[in-house]
Amino acid sequence: MKQDVISPGVAAAAPRDLCALEFSNRFVRELPGDPDTRNVSRAVSDACYTRVDPTPVPAPRLLGWSDTVAATLGIARPLDACGPAAEALTGNRVLPGMQPYAARYGGHQFGQWAGQLGDGRAITLGEVINAAGRSYELQLKGAGPTPYSRRADGRAVLRSSVREFMCSEAMHDLGVPTTRALSLTATGAAVVRDLFYDGNPAPEPGAVVCRVAPSFVRFGNFQLHAAQGEGALLKRLADHVIAAHFPELLQDGGTPAAIYGRWFQEICRRTALMVNDWMRVGFVHGVMNTDNMSILGLTVDYGPYGWLEGYDPQWTPNTTDASGRRYCYANQPQIAQWNLWQLANALYGLTEDKAPLEEGLVLFADTYESAWQKTLATKLGFAASSTVDAGLNAGLFSLLEATETDYTLFFRLLANVPVDDNAAALDDHALVAPLQPAFYNEGAVSTTHRKRVATWLRDYIAHTQREATPSSQRIARMNAVNPKYVLRNYLAHLAIEALAAGDASVMERTMRVLQRPYDEQPGCDDLAARRPEWARHKAGCSALSCSS
Ligand code: AMP
Ligand code: MG
Repeated sequence: MKQDVISPGVAAAAPRDLCALEFSNRFVRELPGDPDTRNVSRAVSDACYTRVDPTPVPAPRLLGWSDTVAATLGIARPLDACGPAAEALTGNRVLPGMQPYAARYGGHQFGQWAGQLGDGRAITLGEVINAAGRSYELQLKGAGPTPYSRRADGRAVLRSSVREFMCSEAMHDLGVPTTRALSLTATGAAVVRDLFYDGNPAPEPGAVVCRVAPSFVRFGNFQLHAAQGEGALLKRLADHVIAAHFPELLQDGGTPAAIYGRWFQEICRRTALMVNDWMRVGFVHGVMNTDNMSILGLTVDYGPYGWLEGYDPQWTPNTTDASGRRYCYANQPQIAQWNLWQLANALYGLTEDKAPLEEGLVLFADTYESAWQKTLATKLGFAASSTVDAGLNAGLFSLLEATETDYTLFFRLLANVPVDDNAAALDDHALVAPLQPAFYNEGAVSTTHRKRVATWLRDYIAHTQREATPSSQRIARMNAVNPKYVLRNYLAHLAIEALAAGDASVMERTMRVLQRPYDEQPGCDDLAARRPEWARHKAGCSALSCSS
């Protein structure tokens, strides 16, 4: 199930020192850059990127490292936390062959066209080709200002960097298409942020994450070219992205317009599958602006994201979104389609035909719908091809909403509910008992609610018995799609607090356990526990601002 956006390198080659990497930089070689290289905030036109070097920081120190991303790139874990690798990973040392740049893009933010945005605090160092011949972009987030920084500082704070570092890796291990993170590095410089947007800015430790993906191109890169009437650039960027990242589309031949149409449809298909995975694991991105939508269908830009705890379709982790709830859990599929529609408008300049674009949007809906039906069936333990009874489905989600019930725990524990012939004889208490830890207020579950849950369970058991799947197969099927461990908001918060106090062990243990999110891991149940009460209203544990 895990999608190998990044796959292990060919094992034969011995891991190299990060500083010995060779860079290919196809994006920079094939596409036009900004002739103006002044690093001041400004509008840029007729370019796909601006060359800009990271701004050095006082004291680079490696805090986190992903061995799996490093293995993909064929590089060894640095021995010295403050050595040359840490310097390269904060941007203090630009290695030979790197051609750092900030990409130029625009986007719709909260439904409104925002014009030029661009990499305001991300700087791509270069592209590396691994032993398997695959190309990866290495990008620093928080490495200093660029011409796209507007009035902001180009920096990132430790807390948001830890969240991005941990979540990129956790999402990958959950089998969700995502950009990755190689490293987390402290800068030794303070960054001032107004965490609560209440006029009380305070210094916080700064950090840099080194993100890795085949490409960080977003819907917004195409949108800006289209909006600025840069038709030739729009075509060059599309041709580059197709040749570099969708080469299979060129094999089937056809007119350029037909290829652009098939390409858009493939983006729609991938985006639908990505959002289906988000919905399956209870991930809420929080800021699905079109500049945060990857052209490769990867989850990108981990900011004010969160994980559903008590099931609430209207829940959004982003405080900026609290009033409109545009980016709440339940809206994600429809927002993804709206974003694709904006991309389609930009790509119309290439196809000059609405039909293939409209087909793409329909394909999105069909792909999502059938993926979600399969997801739902397997989450409940039925064969992927089963159609889940509409009443069973609707009944379930209204029950989860009626009494605060943990989304992750409910589905995981449902596998423990007995479905054999004896189950029918159990009273309400006994039947519901395996699900008890999923209720946020276990002691206060009313008799009426328990009865409703038991009634639903009897219906569910009847459906399960009709399918007659052997019990062990049913449980294995459920446990393969219903994670036990997800990066609950409070777990990230605990890791951040410990790290800020100089202790990396909490982050490291959490990440190690989250590498096998579907496995039972003895001694690690604390990381599978529902959110503790202290975290209910705590900033960083329940809601997050974009201020990071
Ligand atoms: P985001 O909501 O993180 O996707 O950011 C939206 C836009 O604001 C992008 O163009 C970012 O590069 C830019 N941005 C966000 N934070 C900063 C910052 N601290 N400094 C410069 N630009 C930023
Ligand atoms: Mg962004």
